[in-house]
Amino acid sequence: MKRSFLSAVIIVVVLLSQSASLARMHQPSRDLSRAEILKRLPRPQDREMLRAGKARLEPVLRAEKSYTPHSYDVLHYEINMDIDIPGDTVRTASVFIDCQSQTDTLTTVDLRFFRMTIDSITVNGESKSYTRDDDELLVDLGGAVSQGDTFQVAVYYHGRPITGLVQMGLFISPSITYSIGAPEGAYRWYPCYDHPSDKATADLNITVPAGYIVASNGTLVGSKLDEKRSKAIYQWSEDYPISTYLICVVISQYTSFSMWYYTDQDTMEIPIWVAASDSADAVADFANLPDMIACYADLFGPYPFIEEKYAMATFNWGGAMEHQTCVSWGFPITGNQDWEHVVAHELSHMWWGDWVTYDDFADVWLNEGFATYCEALWWQYLYGEVGLQIYMDDMQDYYANWENSTGHRFPIYDPPPGYIYSPTEYEKGGCVLHMLRFVVGDSTFFDILRTYGTTYAYANAVTADFQAVCEAESGQDMDWFFDQWIYDQGFPEYSLLWSYANQGAKGYVLYVAISQIQENAPIFNMPVELGITTTSGSILDTVTVDDAQDFFQFVLQDEPLDVQLDPNHWLLCEKQETTVSDTTAPETIADLAIQLEGGAKSSSGDMHLWWTQADDDVGVVRYVVYRSTQAGSVGDSLAGAADTTYIDPGAAGDVNTNFFYTVKAVDWVDNKPDASNQVGEFDRSLSKGE
Ligand SMILES: [Zn+2]
Repeated sequence: MKRSFLSAVIIVVVLLSQSASLARMHQPSRDLSRAEILKRLPRPQDREMLRAGKARLEPVLRAEKSYTPHSYDVLHYEINMDIDIPGDTVRTASVFIDCQSQTDTLTTVDLRFFRMTIDSITVNGESKSYTRDDDELLVDLGGAVSQGDTFQVAVYYHGRPITGLVQMGLFISPSITYSIGAPEGAYRWYPCYDHPSDKATADLNITVPAGYIVASNGTLVGSKLDEKRSKAIYQWSEDYPISTYLICVVISQYTSFSMWYYTDQDTMEIPIWVAASDSADAVADFANLPDMIACYADLFGPYPFIEEKYAMATFNWGGAMEHQTCVSWGFPITGNQDWEHVVAHELSHMWWGDWVTYDDFADVWLNEGFATYCEALWWQYLYGEVGLQIYMDDMQDYYANWENSTGHRFPIYDPPPGYIYSPTEYEKGGCVLHMLRFVVGDSTFFDILRTYGTTYAYANAVTADFQAVCEAESGQDMDWFFDQWIYDQGFPEYSLLWSYANQGAKGYVLYVAISQIQENAPIFNMPVELGITTTSGSILDTVTVDDAQDFFQFVLQDEPLDVQLDPNHWLLCEKQETTVSDTTAPETIADLAIQLEGGAKSSSGDMHLWWTQADDDVGVVRYVVYRSTQAGSVGDSLAGAADTTYIDPGAAGDVNTNFFYTVKAVDWVDNKPDASNQVGEFDRSLSKGE
């Protein structure tokens, strides 16, 4: 590739010692070989399966999303439901919604509810009128409710939850009955204000045929058997604020077992509900959960729902869903921990998704990118620094391959319709967090996560909120990072060339040229690690790459053998490293021109020189101007020029001395051509090009 533009700043670095690398976190808990760790990586189809369940939901979301801002705050949901499982129907249900008015003119409450039969609606116990328009439910309050006043809406209903082709709502079947409220489908099984931003507490009182177990959010307040009616009643209470899409029921004839998570202050149960036939394998598959909770609590802050539980209940949905305190699990149970990365992903959602919840789908990476990065953090816990690097290398490759093979290239922020649950939000989001960690350092990175968590605990956040925390904790403006990685698209494709020269007693000069050759993406500005192998060992150094082409020189004591770009896999990028022997000098400049400032007869002044930029097969990094007092002689070099102009100050004015100038372009490995045409002061009567 022929390049003629000039973009270089040469940095000469004398490398003395290896940079410090990852310092945080304890020793790996498992000592596996690199080959054994590689075998445990999720396959591409495993990554797809993690997203597949939610991806099926999205078309519905986009088709039906129709929110109006509401002027009340939901404080609490009480969901009472008698489910006739053999009859595939909700026999009776009542939902009590405690609300607080946020205006003095609130006369109706706008809820969403999907097509089951409403028997009656009351407000504060009095029957009220309502209107339904498709899934919109407007309840007449019978007069204005003042700001700050609370009221309770009760909706009594029954019927068969219509799910059809839609993958959200309440799915009733004798083997497994379960709800899916994500991304915004809670209204398909209970009336609510169905937006993640309005968190409330929740009680669920669920009646099912005897023999079934109901798993749900929060604490099991009670369960009782009504022997006369052959029914079981489960009372669950979620006392931490919860978004509507995270409220769940999962019902089956489960067997269960429990693990325990201990801290200095607390003991928390980890109940697991599975089919009896899977029980032994589930014990093995989920055995790491107590350590996993401890790992994330150490990194992010205490488990957010410590007064309640962390549970998993199997269902047959073909995915997993991070219901608050009660993950629904639809992956195979094998007894070999084959889906450990999903176990970690879903658990981490308790912090990133449930504790801090995105406010809008534009910010979905705050849930999914974070949870995907947490998979890698668990690998770091298990396998140490090498585990983290292997996991991130794989995640980066997976994403780059996906983007290249599909051509889907769009910013993380506000993905286009159909791509909310895409690798851009999951894997690229995870890669961006890893790069943020690289940029700000381990200590600041985990400070950012902890502060972000406590600042938006049990509430909602948008990308700008997260950036503000990054800026406060790091003490730097982070627009440069978020603009390129969150609000713009693509990733860098680096082409690195290297060469070196033996300087004898002075050692070796290593020349490095890095080009960014990506298309349909910005030129990225990132620190980049270079791993340099010499005859005496390895050296790691960090340079800033922020142009289409950047050049670097290193002075080494020993002969360089190899140069690797980003050897520790910090960056989402593609890269190729090539060693070259470049003996081709830039072209000779033929149009050097000169003018005396101040006019032809000025008694003294500055000499202005200019020329056209020279081409080179790799890149011109600077120019050197030469000055002689003898016509036809090159003379001594003056200071170099980075641009195609040069001023020789005060060079005119001495009638006894005439100066004669030439210029040479210098390429990245210090090749120089013959001198240019010569221009000079002559008799001080100068004109351009003389
Ligand atoms: Zn997720």
